[in-house]
Amino acid sequence: MLPVYLDHAATTPVAPEVLQAMEPFFSRAFGNPSAIYTIGQEAREAVEHAREQIARLVNADADDVYFTSGGTESDNWAIKGVARAWGDRKNHLITTPIEHHAVLEACVALREAGWEITFVPVDSTGLVDPDEVRRAVTPRTGLITIMHANNEVGTIEPIAEIGAIAREAGIPFHTDAVQTVGKIRVDVDALNVDMLSISAHKLYGPKGVGALVVRRGTPLRPLLDGGGQERGRRGGTYNVPGIVGFGAAAERAMRCGAEEMERVRALRDRLVEGIMERVPDVMLTGHPVHRLPNNAHLAFADVEGESLVLSLDAVGIYCSAGAACSSGDTEPSHVLVAMGIEPRLIEGSVRFTLGKDNTQEQIDYTIEQVVKAVQKLRSLRVKG
Ligand SMILES: *Cc1c(COP(=O)(O)O)cnc(C)c1O
Repeated sequence: MLPVYLDHAATTPVAPEVLQAMEPFFSRAFGNPSAIYTIGQEAREAVEHAREQIARLVNADADDVYFTSGGTESDNWAIKGVARAWGDRKNHLITTPIEHHAVLEACVALREAGWEITFVPVDSTGLVDPDEVRRAVTPRTGLITIMHANNEVGTIEPIAEIGAIAREAGIPFHTDAVQTVGKIRVDVDALNVDMLSISAHKLYGPKGVGALVVRRGTPLRPLLDGGGQERGRRGGTYNVPGIVGFGAAAERAMRCGAEEMERVRALRDRLVEGIMERVPDVMLTGHPVHRLPNNAHLAFADVEGESLVLSLDAVGIYCSAGAACSSGDTEPSHVLVAMGIEPRLIEGSVRFTLGKDNTQEQIDYTIEQVVKAVQKLRSLRVKG
């Protein structure tokens, strides 16, 4: 049996056409895009082409796309960069308790610098109520940051509505769209966002490259001061192969994303139905409708999520208990706690996130193996 990779929210394999696009920029076309001679200019053109590919994917202006080292840097830049731009004129930000750690920890860093943070609550499906955001706004509010879709439970937030509230109040609005770009339609205009974070490795691109899309006029200071790259807003020699791969991944997503996701959605539904029909005491966590098409987050009563993940690993199935970045962490998921999920179900939570190469055969195999593993773990628990 081939390995069954079901952890696409953690990372995705580099697509063959992405790797192919990157290859020359490791070897023949190694020039520095900031140099004026031919191989420099060739690299420069490739970077600018990638910028256009990414802009097209999210309906942004290419001039508004800034390359970064990934989602974490983009999130940190948006949050700390806006705070620095305000100076002491603003000192309050609004976010949610279910953000990725890249956002949460950047907010905590601002708190140490004197900012006050309001965490608007989420309901039991992980959904934010835009009215709660409206109520949290004060004259001191300088930033709203709310993720487009949650990386654990897959809930998609009402970003366009929240963005309209932010715009009306004149408050810069950032969204972490790392989990949505390439999976569902992301349009920076329709979403009313001022800043949007993307990471290439979540959409079949390489690791270590991403972008922050910044609408003109957004108050944002640099995070990385340096050699004037990215129109003076983000220093550092261009990661040319990474950026080229990111562009190719964006192009690929535009070409086959929608069709691919419908196929993935059907497989995801098959997985969820297959497991829920055959395993008693299991709950689908997150929103039943407003959720990523590739996400199945299941909470098994009387099972330890990590044990289930390890049992499945032994039969070639890769999934995760909680977010990948916190594995090995014994703390319960901050997302599930904020959603008010019972501790005994939090403990038994497992996330399956599907991708382009998964097949029906793999999903049927996974259902079989989950049924077996849960039975075994539950019987051991009773005996123990
Ligand atoms: C993966 C992820 C990040 C971090 O992106 P990196 O490129 O790995 O730094 C940030 N936010 C969300 C929602 C993610 O899923």
